[in-house]
Amino acid sequence: MSFKVYLARTRGFCAGVERAIAVVNRALEKYGTQKVYVLHEVVHNKHVVADLASRGAHFVEHLSQIPNPEDKVVIFSAHGVGTKTVEAANALKLIVIDATCPLVNRVHFKVSRAAKEQKEVVIIGHTGHQEVVGTVGQYDGPEEKVHVILTPQDVEKLDLVSNKAIFATQTTLSIDETALTVKALKEKFSFIEGPKNDDTCFATQNRQAAVKTLAQECDLVIVAGSKNSSNSKRLSEVALSMGVRSYLIDDCEGISDEMLAGATKVGVTAGASVPEYIVQDILKVLAQKGGSEVILTGDEQIHRVFPLPDGLD
Ligand code: SF4
Repeated sequence: MSFKVYLARTRGFCAGVERAIAVVNRALEKYGTQKVYVLHEVVHNKHVVADLASRGAHFVEHLSQIPNPEDKVVIFSAHGVGTKTVEAANALKLIVIDATCPLVNRVHFKVSRAAKEQKEVVIIGHTGHQEVVGTVGQYDGPEEKVHVILTPQDVEKLDLVSNKAIFATQTTLSIDETALTVKALKEKFSFIEGPKNDDTCFATQNRQAAVKTLAQECDLVIVAGSKNSSNSKRLSEVALSMGVRSYLIDDCEGISDEMLAGATKVGVTAGASVPEYIVQDILKVLAQKGGSEVILTGDEQIHRVFPLPDGLD
């Protein structure tokens, strides 16, 4: 077996993920391993979560799982939480540290303001995804005035009860697919206010642009990322939508000879929550299986840094 290996320059950790991981590490240094709890996976990557757990962070799905909560530390994940969760944490006298990505917070602010202005909100996103749950939870108003949809078909079925509404989107959606939903929304509800395109973040946009470049070169695209990572899944779907075989794998153990069979140009990229060592392990295995020297593709990665929350910097 022999094939060329292409690697997207723009891949892996984004500023929001780096910040969220740094928040947990700093909290462990500051408060010690007995006290630090993280509500939900801090980012959707099993290796990151396992690594932080091995350093002493406790991951829980509900605040009620934190024993003797008074003066324990709870960290909210990069995906954000609703206001009721913040209130519940404060009522339990937990020390709250918010690792919500600042770009998710921007969407939270818009939804919160819409509630104050008594506007309806349409959120384009995946029902049940942690980020969407948190964004819906910013709306302090009647439940029936918040709608979560995803596709143009959902727009057809959507009824708004008033003519004052905004839309917002999950930050990690497919840009091309979201454009179709936004178009349908604006056509059906001409009064709806919202961003020019969507609320996808720069990291989502850059990584999807990079995987398109990769997919143009390659006949197989391997995306490193966990199955519950929205942005990683979208990268694989973008490659598939261009007619290129693509697999989403957690790490190098996901590579098989069947996967590589017939491939002459294999592209590699990684979702925004994936550590670089996972990519390097994948490249090593590809080299062992007949891969060429790595050929870098696409634009240089733009590295951004978000400051840590107050008290941890
Ligand atoms: Fe923030 Fe985007 Fe990274 Fe999510 S993918 S943490 S929104 S920068």
